[in-house]
Amino acid sequence: MAEFPAAWIALFIFAFAVFVIVRPLFLSQSAIEAAQGVDAWATQLRRQADLLTARRDVYAALRDLDFEYSTDKVSQEEYGRQRYKLMGQAVDILQQIDQLPPLGDDPIESALGGSNSIAEESGEVYYCSNCGEEVGLTDHFCGSCGSELVEEAST
Ligand SMILES: [Zn+2]
Repeated sequence: MAEFPAAWIALFIFAFAVFVIVRPLFLSQSAIEAAQGVDAWATQLRRQADLLTARRDVYAALRDLDFEYSTDKVSQEEYGRQRYKLMGQAVDILQQIDQLPPLGDDPIESALGGSNSIAEESGEVYYCSNCGEEVGLTDHFCGSCGSELVEEAST
């Protein structure tokens, strides 16, 4: 008659073992998902930064080309050819930037409950009216050509 309770005890131990084994799996699953969220966000941010860098490089190359052409270092034919190529690259990059999915809230910033201190990253981008270089929202002078940045009239 001692077999019956022994079976129950065995079952209880088994159930408890399953509970102990399975519980951390669920815990780590949510931790993995949280980490993946941060990871995906970081990847997206990196891609956006790469595209912005590429755009800046193409603009710089166009500026250099214009300068070389103005100093007769390149023929008109070569200038036209190079410029056409660079403009194609610029259009390609701009299209890729346009197609970027909207960058969600910074999961780290959200977790900290902080305000969004990186307005530039979320699409608030301004350009120098003189050279076309990207400038900060609060900049008074262009970091590239040094010309004074005139704030566009807002009503
Ligand atoms: Zn400038």
